[in-house]
Amino acid sequence: MSTIRRFWLAVLVCLVVLFSGWIHLIYSWGIEDPEVVRMVMNVEPGSNLITRVDTGGKKVVALTFDDGPDIFYTPRILDVLREHQVKATFFVVGENVEANPELLRQMVREGHQVENHTHTHPELVKKGGSRIDEEIYRCEKAVESLTGRKTQYFRPPKRLFNDDVVDIAAVRGYTTVLWTVGVENRTTRVPQEMARRVSHRVVPGAIILAHDGRLDRSKTVEALPLLIKGCQQQGYRLVTLDELLSEGRR
Ligand SMILES: [Zn+2]
Repeated sequence: MSTIRRFWLAVLVCLVVLFSGWIHLIYSWGIEDPEVVRMVMNVEPGSNLITRVDTGGKKVVALTFDDGPDIFYTPRILDVLREHQVKATFFVVGENVEANPELLRQMVREGHQVENHTHTHPELVKKGGSRIDEEIYRCEKAVESLTGRKTQYFRPPKRLFNDDVVDIAAVRGYTTVLWTVGVENRTTRVPQEMARRVSHRVVPGAIILAHDGRLDRSKTVEALPLLIKGCQQQGYRLVTLDELLSEGRR
């Protein structure tokens, strides 16, 4: 092999190594949900943005679900949570609330927390300020009209947000809540592995993201009891977001 060929072969090997390292880094950050492999833009982590709660090592975590209520998956997830006596937090989409009001009432009746995931699930970074505000407000009103309670926490659809999104939510009184580890991801598609992966990655104060709508969530439903058991066997208590925040160190 000529020297020039060897040189280019070495360059190619280096590029492959660098690329695979970059992919590994992306996954190790936990930004692996199918809907979230996008850039997070211009946001300084601060008091209006939460990805994990400092519980001082206390083994408490919050299980959260996005995109419901869904006529097919939400009842199944509620069944699993009831069987395991676990309370969770649902970041609901306003138009799904209007389509499935009884499911929202059931969430609240069974002790779960309901929070804001916009009215129509748009990519907020592509929208103007008034539309962002309207999305949060309409979801808030959809929930409030059924439960009498105003939502306080906001999660941007597809993890797409910037300073404007966080600031507009904050003006409405919201803290933006992301997550520490996601249940659904590109690399783990078997329910047992999904559950095992979360159990291995969970840390005190973690916020776990799962979904109860928008796409096929049958694997999430299957993974859920295994995930709950996996966390509990390690001594973790699964609580609502409010309870997790109340365990946070000030
Ligand atoms: Zn979503």
